[in-house]
Amino acid sequence: MAGKRIFSFGGGKAEGSQELKNLLGGKGAGLAEMSRIGIPVPPGFTITTDVCAAFYAAGRKLPKDVLPGVRAALAQVERLTGRGFGDPANPLLVSVRSGARVSMPGMMDTVLNLGLNDATVEGLAAQSSSERFAWDSYRRFVAMFGDVVLGMKPEKKEDRDPFEVILEAKKRARGVKFDSELPADALRELVAEFKAEVKRRTGAPFPEEPVAQLTAAIEAVFRSWDNDRALAYRKLNGIPAEWGTAVTVQSMVFGNMGEDSGTGVAFTRDPATGEDVFYGEFLVNAQGEDVVAGIRTPQPIHEMEARWPDIARQLEDARGKLERHYRDMQDIEFTVERGRLYLLQCRSGKRTGLAAVRIAVDMVDEKIISKDEAILRVEPEALNHLLRPIFDGRSKHDAMAKGGFVAKGLPAGPGAASGRVVFFAQDAEAWRARGERVVLARHETSPEDIRGMNAAEGFLTAFGGMTSHAALVARQMGKVAIVGCGALSFDYHAKTMTVARAEGDLTIREGDWISIDGTAGEVILGELHTSPSEVVQVLVEKNRDPADAPLYRKFAKLLSWADDVRRLGVRANADQPDQAAASIAFGAEGIGLCRTEHMFFGEGKIGPMREMIVAETEEERRAALAKLLPLQREDFAGIFRAMGPRSVTIRTLDPPLHEFLPQTERGLEELARATGRTLEQIRARVEELHETNPMLGDRGCRLGISYPEITEMQARAIFEAACDVAAEGVDVRPEVMIPLVGHAKELANQEKLVREVAAAVFAERGRKVKYLVGTMIEVPRGAITAAEVAKHAEFFSFGTNDLTQMTFGVSRDDIGAVLNAYVAREIWSVDPFVSIDRDGVGTLLRIAVEGGRRTRPNLKLGICGEHGGDPSSVAFCHEIGLDYVSCSPYRLPIARLAAAQAALRERAAAPARKAPRSARAGAKPRKAAASARRTKAVVAAHPARAARASVEVRRPARKAARKPERRPRA
Ligand code: ADP
Ligand code: MG
Ligand code: MG
Repeated sequence: MAGKRIFSFGGGKAEGSQELKNLLGGKGAGLAEMSRIGIPVPPGFTITTDVCAAFYAAGRKLPKDVLPGVRAALAQVERLTGRGFGDPANPLLVSVRSGARVSMPGMMDTVLNLGLNDATVEGLAAQSSSERFAWDSYRRFVAMFGDVVLGMKPEKKEDRDPFEVILEAKKRARGVKFDSELPADALRELVAEFKAEVKRRTGAPFPEEPVAQLTAAIEAVFRSWDNDRALAYRKLNGIPAEWGTAVTVQSMVFGNMGEDSGTGVAFTRDPATGEDVFYGEFLVNAQGEDVVAGIRTPQPIHEMEARWPDIARQLEDARGKLERHYRDMQDIEFTVERGRLYLLQCRSGKRTGLAAVRIAVDMVDEKIISKDEAILRVEPEALNHLLRPIFDGRSKHDAMAKGGFVAKGLPAGPGAASGRVVFFAQDAEAWRARGERVVLARHETSPEDIRGMNAAEGFLTAFGGMTSHAALVARQMGKVAIVGCGALSFDYHAKTMTVARAEGDLTIREGDWISIDGTAGEVILGELHTSPSEVVQVLVEKNRDPADAPLYRKFAKLLSWADDVRRLGVRANADQPDQAAASIAFGAEGIGLCRTEHMFFGEGKIGPMREMIVAETEEERRAALAKLLPLQREDFAGIFRAMGPRSVTIRTLDPPLHEFLPQTERGLEELARATGRTLEQIRARVEELHETNPMLGDRGCRLGISYPEITEMQARAIFEAACDVAAEGVDVRPEVMIPLVGHAKELANQEKLVREVAAAVFAERGRKVKYLVGTMIEVPRGAITAAEVAKHAEFFSFGTNDLTQMTFGVSRDDIGAVLNAYVAREIWSVDPFVSIDRDGVGTLLRIAVEGGRRTRPNLKLGICGEHGGDPSSVAFCHEIGLDYVSCSPYRLPIARLAAAQAALRERAAAPARKAPRSARAGAKPRKAAASARRTKAVVAAHPARAARASVEVRRPARKAARKPERRPRA
């Protein structure tokens, strides 16, 4: 087999480097890199992941040529440390450490203090002048070796570690509480007893020979790549089995050699806030594991200055070096042995969304990274953290400690909310109206509850998954929500909810205070303190000056950089003027989906709507619609005013009519009274409208075709509002969208109607307004016959919720059980309602894009399904050349960042392909050539785009409105 298999490091040099991360694992690469840049690291060597592959290929056996290599590398470590492996007078001890190319914290095994035996322990005692220290190291080694290498680690939860059992007995016999109180002779006894246990369990004596110990440990670490924990972790994180782990053998340093020794962990910046401060903790006179074991409380790192000023300076020096070198925040492990500092590990540190944004922006300001890098550094989803209200950490901790934990559900709307529990939407409104803060708790929610949901601080449901009604509304409204909290059972009559707990049932009554942590999915009793996020205060509540909102400024800066590089436009799904205003604050360049049905639940509208539905003649229906017209017109006018010159896509009525009818007996009676009909008549109509499969029923354009007067009224409301607002001097841009079109003739029918109404209204008002008529592509047939459909459509908006539903043939409202089973069995790698299914639904999208543009090259293309706010789906929309994505207002920042990342990734991929040609061109300055290449690549990928001038408004705040904006930054 080709390739170098062992890479040494130490003494300010290294054969490996960060570049070889895949071969050396993150840990091995980090140690090599640190050695290179002059950071003190105990010398050692790394055996590559290739050897791991060979090990498994040979049936879990080390390839023959590895051991001679190990001996040679070990000899070099001996030279660098001046010690001998197995030398009783001056023993070299090593650790044998695992490390894959991505960090898998604690999943694989590590053996420390290897090389100890009955002879070398004496040498260690002499070297350290501590009998106790030497025997303590030895007994730790035997136990660790027994567990990891000899397979004595307990497998079942009920079983106890055999070494722990012996240790406990010893402490009892000696009358002490802590390990550290055991004297040297007790530790010596422990070693003998541990070894006897090894002999008893494995039938073989404990291996005394250091090279045999080392070989066995290397094999064991390779084997740990395939242990149950690692397997589960790999599955969860999509880490392929072929990657394998590397093994690093490294000379030991001891943090437990007295008061001038210690160990610690640190981040080069605060991983919670991103603040540029050294953040971490250390323990004096302790080994690595002691920090984690939590027996002693570590000290914060800033206290090191007072105790060990010299070490503190060295550490600070290493911190600076590491950040400059890696150009990212690092997470480090270190040990101090008798006043000398060693770093044992470094890697990119995990951080909160808050910290991610702050660090990325700060590092640009500090000239450590470029703006493009900053954009790519932040996980789009992380921006959520900056928008959510937050629980005060202490307040939550105290409540939990007092037994306040109620239950756990799915974290559907991140953030924190406290309020008094109510069980009905109407109650939520009423309580809110008298100034109460409430949390709406229900088995599930429906469109009827929308106003109550709006009134609530957050909501909690027992039923439904991440795409249930409650979850969707949470994202749209930016509310805190927990859904699918199955432990809760509701008694609507008694107005209580109950959760079974080990200590007995807990019943929560209407009016009780609860708190929901929508980030963790935890329901907690009582009122916890929260505060709205700074970003929301500035942008939505507008009660905070950006000048004293440092976090907001970082957020805005990052997004402005993202806006400069993205090609996709972003729009919002918003139904009301206040949502429209929030959308603009979050950077919307238009509304991609205004659902008119939500308006019908508004003040004074549901009555006429129901009248319309129970009407028996067209005449009666028209009378009811006439009452709705002025109300709808006002809704649309409000949205047009809020959106100004930005496009607004309004969808005509979509859901089946029965959704608007009352659900309760009392409601039906009221409706009968209000419409002057008998209860029997109302019941008959309800019966008639009942659908076995509402998703596939009389809805969407089918309604508008059966009842043309509905579309007529809606079109009239849209165009009258548009004319009215245009008369106020606003340059309105309505786009009328017909839902659920599967056949070109359906659209032809509705298009004709809409255009006739438009012409009539324009004639009446003596004013014309530019508008578009288009359709939602959400029925597979509509996508497949897109070339036909496009004859009648000026735009397509992909309704990927329904399209996914119909392509898979599953209903998103009760998919929970299937979804879990399918994801667990890896039939679906992700929930297709969360991330677009590229192979299936995505293929339909490609077909529709291609067909649509064939018929109509300037067809405007967007997406308005929930996928529009999902980063990987946004990337897909970029790839297939859509013009914009539309998503919930609170997901707009995520979409903007994801769109920018997609553009940057495309650029990064493009020059590689084009490199030879530009190299030939030669003469051009590099930067210009690169930018020309980028533009070329973008245009090549989207030929339709280059020819087209579009009316899409991009970045209104920064660029002159309506400037055609299709190019990447030049
Ligand atoms: P993990 O990947 O689980 O963090 P590590 O290989 O980092 O495992 O090792 C576990 C612990 O042992 C860490 O606290 C580490 O600092 C310590 N350790 C590993 N190698 C040495 C060494 N050569 N000298 C001193 N401590 C070590
Ligand atoms: Mg570690
Ligand atoms: Mg739909």
